[in-house]
Amino acid sequence: MVDAYVLKRVSARELTRRLKGRRFENSQRHGKHLFVRAGDELWLRLHFGMTGSLEYLKRDEVPPKTARVIFRFANGCQLAFDDQRKFGEVELIEDFDEFLRTRGLGPDALEISLSQFEAIFGKHRGAVKAILLNQQLIAGIGNLYADEILFRTRVHPATKAGKLRNKDLTRLFRATRNVLEKAIALKTDFNRLPKSWLLTHREKRGRCPRCGRALKSATIGGRTSWFCAHCQKRI
Ligand SMILES: [Zn+2]
Repeated sequence: MVDAYVLKRVSARELTRRLKGRRFENSQRHGKHLFVRAGDELWLRLHFGMTGSLEYLKRDEVPPKTARVIFRFANGCQLAFDDQRKFGEVELIEDFDEFLRTRGLGPDALEISLSQFEAIFGKHRGAVKAILLNQQLIAGIGNLYADEILFRTRVHPATKAGKLRNKDLTRLFRATRNVLEKAIALKTDFNRLPKSWLLTHREKRGRCPRCGRALKSATIGGRTSWFCAHCQKRI
């Protein structure tokens, strides 16, 4: 079963034909992409958009209504690519290193070293938030998490990269790792994220979990940013 919007550069018929009889052998993540190896020179690329997830179902389990692709295994079990808000992507690729190169994706946010991180901020002039979101510079940081990283570091999202001192960059680097690792450990379940995080308060009438003042929002780097103007000073 396939919902056509989700397929990139492959038809439902071709996806079925090329995966038939193959096994999913292992997987690797880079940035926001998950690559599933399906034998020689064939990888399934999954991008989960905002709400995508995978659900493994036993033979008699009913897939969620928003399942967009369902892979059926020989034992009758199924793997559903669930995607409520339809921002997900499914593609077949032959070479995943080449995919990273042609997309120009930067190093993964959890693999990057402090010196690579510093070099990126040393070379680029834009707002710090725009740099964190730029997948060509650092792959894997989404909008909500960029706001969280900046909140933890007490840096205003519109701060120009050139204004950051080395010690700000070290804190930003550590916060990036901590926020992403924690979110992954909690399976990005918003109900389980700490209440001290900005992420659970980012809405109209939301208040800063640190100082209690009203949060502000603004468009920075083309995306809506939430921040506390008191705790996150513009340097
Ligand atoms: Zn505050």
